[in-house]
Amino acid sequence: MENPLSAKVIKSRLPTLKEKSRRYFIKTYGCQMNVADSEKLAGILDAAGYLPAESAGSADLLLINTCVVRQHAEDRAAWYITSAKGLKRERPHLKIGICGCLVTQPGRDLKKQFPHVDIFIAPNQPEKLKEFISSSTKASLWSPFSILDGEGKKRPSPRSGEGGPRAKRVEGEGLTKYLTIMQGCDNFCSYCIVPYVRGRETSRPIDEIIEEFKKLDFNHIKEIYLLGQNVNSYQYGFANLLRTIEINVGVGEYLPWIRFMTSHPRDMSDEIINAVAESHNVCEFFHLPIQHGDDEILKKMNRGYTIDYYRKLVDRIRARIPGASITSDVIVGFPGETDDQFRRTLYIIEEIGFDAVNTLAYSVRPATAASKLSDDVPQKVKDERLQEVMQVVEEVALVQNQKLVGTTQAVLVEGVSGRTRTNKIVKFVSPRNDLLGRVASVKITFARSWALEGEISDG
Ligand code: SF4
Repeated sequence: MENPLSAKVIKSRLPTLKEKSRRYFIKTYGCQMNVADSEKLAGILDAAGYLPAESAGSADLLLINTCVVRQHAEDRAAWYITSAKGLKRERPHLKIGICGCLVTQPGRDLKKQFPHVDIFIAPNQPEKLKEFISSSTKASLWSPFSILDGEGKKRPSPRSGEGGPRAKRVEGEGLTKYLTIMQGCDNFCSYCIVPYVRGRETSRPIDEIIEEFKKLDFNHIKEIYLLGQNVNSYQYGFANLLRTIEINVGVGEYLPWIRFMTSHPRDMSDEIINAVAESHNVCEFFHLPIQHGDDEILKKMNRGYTIDYYRKLVDRIRARIPGASITSDVIVGFPGETDDQFRRTLYIIEEIGFDAVNTLAYSVRPATAASKLSDDVPQKVKDERLQEVMQVVEEVALVQNQKLVGTTQAVLVEGVSGRTRTNKIVKFVSPRNDLLGRVASVKITFARSWALEGEISDG
């Protein structure tokens, strides 16, 4: 009979490596900037030996990356944080962190509102997570298992295939990599809370961005989004950055497509348009939030351009890059918006012929200049205007998409669907598993407002 205390027996009774691993789950609200921030946090946890969890219910650390750009987004995040209290009741060792813009929102006492939360991490403070996990480990606050395994070796990386089923580190993770090139915003659009919660603009040096590019695994990453609140005002020259990326990373069909977001129309220069036109990898896709169709409202929004300027900008892009897609954002129900002013938004959407538009009803954000204006458009009117503008956007997008029927487009295959360089979704009539992550030629056979259908003609 085996000695009940032999090393072999003790070892067999110890939790397996998989059981010992602490797991994290990151719930992300909001824009791609938040997705990029969540990836950064996931990277810190990966490096510390944590593994991604399949769900919040199986995590030891739950991070909730919040967005407060609109009241609705803020409410959803607050609801999720509150309901996480139940998870903690079931699993008392669970640690909960709030990240993102809610943390820096002026006038909030989050500790009082959410006493079950263990850590608060502002958008530009990922190092706070490092400190938190290292102090938790030292103090053994968390679980009986150390970061190192029993033999003093580092745990295998979660990407090595060991350590259990591969959960997504961050929702939305796939062929796309979000790469932040700048943070914050100096524009202070009157309705927007971003400068208050993300701070003033700071740009990452070009060298640092190129280094990060070079480390990416282009066998898996097929599309890169360069992100910033206003990439056009990137401190070292956005056109310069686009050209430098292409020179340093090279060009070719096996390298990723590059997209960027968001552009402020006022700062979209001919130099940037030319850099896109002359690039092999940068896609012909411009997200240019117009926000409104009336000059007086644009002025009250502090947007810094007129409708005539915007119209000419679109003409310049289309003249230089025929077939470029142009998408936008609009807000309805801004304080004082009359019916005539609202109709101007409808007209400009039709006139420009946007490929897609995100539509929002105005909601007051604390601390902003517009919060001092009377929010005098009744909710019912806002809702009606929102419905109307969405209808127009749908019709206009359909007209744009129908122009592509019969053409052959390069499409990045993501599964049963893919996306064109102009960022249009294409559903495949006969999907092909062997083409995942590759660019295929696809003949467009049918158009809807939000997606195209097509047949793969070759891979
Ligand atoms: Fe907000 Fe305006 Fe800055 Fe965009 S440009 S993040 S809308 S302040």
